[in-house]
Amino acid sequence: SVSCSFFLSSYHNHFKPTRYCKHPLFSSRSKYEHSSPWPAFIETLREDSVTKHMETLSAFKVLCGKCGNGLGHEFINDGPEEGQSRF
Ligand SMILES: [Zn+2]
Repeated sequence: SVSCSFFLSSYHNHFKPTRYCKHPLFSSRSKYEHSSPWPAFIETLREDSVTKHMETLSAFKVLCGKCGNGLGHEFINDGPEEGQSRF
């Protein structure tokens, strides 16, 4: 699984973290190849792994559900298959 500390320390420039933590957020099983330079995932480890705030009709701002670290976005219907999300 991928914790937000791994996520944030490896992709610091993209996520601009304000804090670091070690909460599990994504399973490596949900990871997939995407053209963007940071890792892409279809879903979070658990429903409550993250907190989401609607930013636009097709994107949520995604925060660590435990400590509130900013993790980027969920893009609706932008995953590898129809109806899937991209994190
Ligand atoms: Zn966290």
